[in-house]
Amino acid sequence: MSCNTADSARDREHRRQANRALAVSAAGLALAGGLELMLALFTGSVALLGDALHNLSDVSTSLAVFAGLKVSQGRPNRHFPYGLERAEDIAGLGVALVIWSSAIFAGYQSYGKLVSHAGTSHVLAGMAGAALGILGNQLVARYKAVVGRRINSVTLLADAKHSWLDAVSSGGALLGLVLVALGYPLGDPVAGFAVTLFIVHVGYEVTKDVLEHLLDGVDPSRLEVAEQAAKSIDGVQVAVARGRWMGRSLVMEIEGGLADDVSVRDAEEIGHSVKHAVLAQLDEVRDVHWSARPHRLVEVSPGPSPEAAA
Ligand SMILES: [Zn+2]
Repeated sequence: MSCNTADSARDREHRRQANRALAVSAAGLALAGGLELMLALFTGSVALLGDALHNLSDVSTSLAVFAGLKVSQGRPNRHFPYGLERAEDIAGLGVALVIWSSAIFAGYQSYGKLVSHAGTSHVLAGMAGAALGILGNQLVARYKAVVGRRINSVTLLADAKHSWLDAVSSGGALLGLVLVALGYPLGDPVAGFAVTLFIVHVGYEVTKDVLEHLLDGVDPSRLEVAEQAAKSIDGVQVAVARGRWMGRSLVMEIEGGLADDVSVRDAEEIGHSVKHAVLAQLDEVRDVHWSARPHRLVEVSPGPSPEAAA
């Protein structure tokens, strides 16, 4: 018994729109980041350098997501029975490495400028670069927010917030250059450190996400929703859910306790209904693995559950 209602035409269309929004945003940020990098080298501004590296790091995150998506479309086979979706997490580890390297580089350059008192030239051109960073990130943030609200995508809305914060980071670089123009040359390296902190923040978020996925960390509330959905099906007396991440989709394992005299055929039918109930409740679930057992043998574990606590 197999069916693919989770992959409805509407879902596919939403995913296509989300991917297009991410691709357009990445292209825009690559352009802004590239120009910023050139202006940073031209003016010697370390704050602008850090901001450019940050924007280019964000672009590499999107590229890794696309590369991961491409590889992960490989179907499961005998050699890789669960498919290749974790390729995305491997790409994520590479991205985390790139981001941490740029944070160290930007911090080191800021420190060097602070102690060497090296100057900043063509300050106006540098300010134009920082303004470009603000504008680029603001445009991208609004675009992602509009699409995110239209297709109701939490991921895209979170991404919009990230871009909005990045505009603040570019604003920090601009502020540093304004201070330089006003006769405070240390404004640039100090802003450089502030921008470095933004990169550290991105590095932390990306690393945390990737590690959590690789370690199969699942929000307990998602498991509870799956268990409630399973128990809403007639015949399921008790249900225990576990989840494993395959890239960005969750494979849910449901152990359902049934009455002793339920036939194999009925157990399979119940499992089919459970699968659809779980898929309907949780967007990120791609597949549900069902195992039917006599209800007394189903142990509600691991970890405390609402039933155990009550
Ligand atoms: Zn960012």
